[in-house]
Amino acid sequence: MTDHQTTVAGVRVDTRHSIGGRRVASARTFTDVSPVDGSELGEIARGGAAEVDAAVTAAREAFPGWAATSRAQRARVLHAVADGVERRSEELAVVETWDNGALLRSHRKGVLPRVAQNFRFFADRLLALDHEDFTTRGHRNHVSWDPAGPCALITPWNAPLMLASWKVAPALAAGNTVVLKPAEWSPLTASLLVDVAAAAGLPPGVLNVVQGYGAEAGAALVAHPDVRRISFTGSVPTALTIAAAASQRLTPVSLELGGKSPLLVFADADLDLAVDLAVEQYDNAGQVCLAATRVLVEEPVADAFTCRLAERIRRLRQGDPRDEDTDIGPNVHQRQLARIDGYVQRALAAGARAVVGGGPNTEAGGLHYRPTLLTDVAQDSEIVQEEVFGPVLTLQTFRTEAEAVALANDTRFGLAAVLATADRERADRVTARLVAGTVWVNCFYVRDLRAPFGGSRLSGVGREGGDWSFDFFCDVKNTVTAPEGWRDHG
Ligand code: NAD
Repeated sequence: MTDHQTTVAGVRVDTRHSIGGRRVASARTFTDVSPVDGSELGEIARGGAAEVDAAVTAAREAFPGWAATSRAQRARVLHAVADGVERRSEELAVVETWDNGALLRSHRKGVLPRVAQNFRFFADRLLALDHEDFTTRGHRNHVSWDPAGPCALITPWNAPLMLASWKVAPALAAGNTVVLKPAEWSPLTASLLVDVAAAAGLPPGVLNVVQGYGAEAGAALVAHPDVRRISFTGSVPTALTIAAAASQRLTPVSLELGGKSPLLVFADADLDLAVDLAVEQYDNAGQVCLAATRVLVEEPVADAFTCRLAERIRRLRQGDPRDEDTDIGPNVHQRQLARIDGYVQRALAAGARAVVGGGPNTEAGGLHYRPTLLTDVAQDSEIVQEEVFGPVLTLQTFRTEAEAVALANDTRFGLAAVLATADRERADRVTARLVAGTVWVNCFYVRDLRAPFGGSRLSGVGREGGDWSFDFFCDVKNTVTAPEGWRDHG
């Protein structure tokens, strides 16, 4: 650790902001602590209103130049960023694991390829972005996607680089400039992304990063008058604050928030598949917005399903997230661990039964929480209604399809739903009645970048992904052109 640099697993990371192509320090710093072993990873610049203002100003000044580049040129730069991500993917994967504790093998095999793909996809999509002209009494209507201006992008800690690239790539493809504020619990890969982007030829000021706390740097960013779009992924309470700030200037917001998604297991389902789907909900130690943490099982198969699931959960291996054999790594932070345990202990006190787990894993130590399966939970209880964001599933039973749908929809959220059933007609009937941005039938986490992504109710506002990202990040314009000589014809 030096003044403005830290070295994590041999990778040098600049701990300052990146503003207008330059590294900028702050008078204050905060300490970034690793969930892997509690070690201090670095002293990170703690930005506030002044740093945010400098970054938005840099983004505003860089905007006309970047917005004026051709689509082909922007696409070339984004592909070069993807190349850079691929070249440095091992370093990015290792630093991300040290910073947020998620499995190294997931970062290597799933996350980093996806980060590169985000840049490639939006580059290619930009080139294909088109809407057929149409005419109104001979007048041509032409739709174009104009860049909107500086965008504020705010991301959480559970998938830092994946979510940053999911927002940065379409914002830049659209011709916008960006100020990215990563989460304070996992700030490092955003800094490395700046290095990758600069090496790829992204002009100074097009991608700026301000580090810091949400209440300081984040709040200043969303309140800044020159910000033209706010894309936020995080929790509902923060989203309410951001929406209130954005409403002062009617700045368009895209909010990707939490969930409490159901996994519906019908008696006709392939139970092995259903158990596999349930076990997948423990990925990333349960810190996944899409996780279907409310398991709803049809009564005739409930006992058999519960036994098989419990058996599988007991076999999950907890440990060092860098080990290939580990299934569940640590949770991100002591505060998150305490929050998870608070939910579980209150549920147990209210009469829930822990079939498996029910507390921190004291043998694994550190920030490990035992994968937990709770039954005997009431539909209106906190554990069923609130997002835990940890490795905790509840299990309830239902008798009829109508009851299954009613239970599934009885929450304030509407992010996703997972169905296990062998009956396609049932799947269609149930899907049509579920409130959810994404429904997976007999599968989970199959995510095509062309698809819309977002949530209903408190799970979010708006959709990103595919052309929906361009609709959000652009000022969509319709130009109506009269036919030549139209006045001559009356
Ligand atoms: P959080 O809301 O606490 O923080 C998210 C980001 O917002 C951080 O960068 C934080 O610094 C910033 N922030 C905090 N207060 C702010 C303020 N007043 N103004 C501006 N920015 C502020 O969320 P978290 O705990 O980091 O993340 C977990 C949440 O994210 C969960 O609810 C999870 O479901 C959700 N999430 C949603 C998705 C999705 O796509 N729907 C994906 C991942 C995570």
